[in-house]
Amino acid sequence: MSRISTPAVSRWLRRWSFSIVVVLALAGLPPLRGWTDFDLLRLDHIIALVMVAIGLNVVTGFAGQLSLGPGAVFAVGGYVAAILAFHYPDHVNLPVMCAVGIGAAAIVGLIAGVPALRVSGFYLGMVTLYLALLIPSIVDSFEVTGGNNGIDLLQKFPDFTQDLSGMPLYEVTLGAMLAVVAFTGLLLYSRVGRRFTALRTSEVLAESLGVKAYRTKLLAFVISALPAGLGGAFYVYSQELISKSSIDPLISINLLAACVIGGFGRVWGPVVGGAIVLGLDQFGSNIPLVGERLQEWELLINGVLLILIILLLPEGLVGFRPLDALRRLRRRGVELRVVRFPPTVMSSGPPPLRRCAEPAGVFELSGISKRFGGVLAVDGVDLTLRPGSLHALIGPNGSGKTTLLNVASGFYRNDSGTMTVGNVRTRGGDAVGVARLGVARTFQTPKLIAGVSILDNVLVAADTTVACTGFESVFRLPRGIRCHHVARERALDCLRHVGLEAAAGLHAGEAPHGTRRLVEIARAMATDPLFLLLDEPAAGLSPAEVEGLKRMLRSLSAAGVGVLLVEHNMPLVLDLADEVTVLHRGSRIAHGGPAEVRRHPDVMRVYLGAA
Ligand code: ADP
Ligand code: MG
Repeated sequence: MSRISTPAVSRWLRRWSFSIVVVLALAGLPPLRGWTDFDLLRLDHIIALVMVAIGLNVVTGFAGQLSLGPGAVFAVGGYVAAILAFHYPDHVNLPVMCAVGIGAAAIVGLIAGVPALRVSGFYLGMVTLYLALLIPSIVDSFEVTGGNNGIDLLQKFPDFTQDLSGMPLYEVTLGAMLAVVAFTGLLLYSRVGRRFTALRTSEVLAESLGVKAYRTKLLAFVISALPAGLGGAFYVYSQELISKSSIDPLISINLLAACVIGGFGRVWGPVVGGAIVLGLDQFGSNIPLVGERLQEWELLINGVLLILIILLLPEGLVGFRPLDALRRLRRRGVELRVVRFPPTVMSSGPPPLRRCAEPAGVFELSGISKRFGGVLAVDGVDLTLRPGSLHALIGPNGSGKTTLLNVASGFYRNDSGTMTVGNVRTRGGDAVGVARLGVARTFQTPKLIAGVSILDNVLVAADTTVACTGFESVFRLPRGIRCHHVARERALDCLRHVGLEAAAGLHAGEAPHGTRRLVEIARAMATDPLFLLLDEPAAGLSPAEVEGLKRMLRSLSAAGVGVLLVEHNMPLVLDLADEVTVLHRGSRIAHGGPAEVRRHPDVMRVYLGAA
């Protein structure tokens, strides 16, 4: 007989209890309360819009791309389904409308996304908002969309008959929404979702891992359109009409509020927030005594709720952890939750790397220059990184070290000079291309994905070393599952190597500074690099951690990785480096072995002082 351990049960409960409660509440509520068909129709309306909010959560919550006009795609899905139902009332049923709604939304998402995603942040928000404002005026001007009156399937086209209505329709609509929620849950915890969260943290981070930012954004945009189109189809089917007022741009704003209140980036966030915001809209007038007034005050109530949530629960209602809040209260709110990170014991054994064991060429930078306006940050620098050797790049602050590293890793376009990895010529400005050739890097200020675990931070890099498609990963197909296990083991191996295996499940956002640097190194290692570029990895580490770092860097170069070490810690550099290049005001003033560089008169003058 198999024994079920108590921690496993409590973990399972922690993970699933919220979902179970929400599903039971949604499925049980109407039958228990004996709601009328009219009430059910309003519930169908809410659920259709919640589907749109779920899509919005994918693009904005998961992938961090601000969309202010989710109602636009909903409108297109709805109108296309309605037009079809009008022209072919005998042949069009719910599944057909759903398929058409989803298809139309995907096409519009793609067409709108291709140009819109060239910009990001505030500008992307404005473009999408204008799309939501534009669609109502477009449907207004065409006959096929019914002009100002819209398409009323019930009164004008009695040929269209619903196969489903009342309770069965509510159940099907609810089932579809739960399927969409399940899909986004699968998506978030797949390799695609991890890429989205990396993108949300920073485009630079995503590209350093070889993830194409634009393509990933477009994927998020198109995926987010699918539930919106489905919502449009369900809306038309249940309400049997669509008109300008059904696609009012205010809907987009309400959906945004719903996601913020429920919690952007949380799988159940849009459902919980949607239930509150849209529930108030649809059922507010039923509330005794204040109901009549509520409708008038709806916008104000939403606004106040929004401000309170942003101030008090920045992660939304679903992100709210009552136990943590209680703990905080007990400590009278003085102290935030203290997470104890286990001490790091870095390994000195061989790192989990495969690619660098094979013979590789050198990483050659020659004559690299980079200018920022009037500042010549890097001036004709040559640098060779050899497999299995550690090359230190030193120089006073502002001497151009980080700039050279950014050019080498493809983040900056160099003004002159050439770069080759092995016998492949790379170019500045192509970070993804450079990363895919086996060049990994860390950042002077660590870039960790905050809302996820330390393991997930490394897993996103390990994902790039296994061959399965996003589809296989999202839908947990056999190869997707196999690849996930391989990548997970690899990520854990890398964390073990930097001494952080015990911290794998902890939240990355809560990690102390030294730990962040080590997570970044583990993440760079997880890409299985040939060359590793580290920007001041010892800054902020304790002396014990620096000793560990030293052992680890030695193990990396012993395994065959070519390491470029930008560092201020001179004893560390002199102890570790096989070669040292010294920069001063963007130019190389010395190059050679550590002992030789240390004695170099120019170096003593500008950097080491007379010591
Ligand atoms: P280091 O890493 O050696 O401290 P940096 O490469 O960061 O030096 O900077 C070299 C020079 O280039 C400095 O004068 C800095 O002000 C300038 N610089 C670096 N990045 C930029 C940028 N993005 N825009 C303008 N100037 C920059
Ligand atoms: Mg720097």
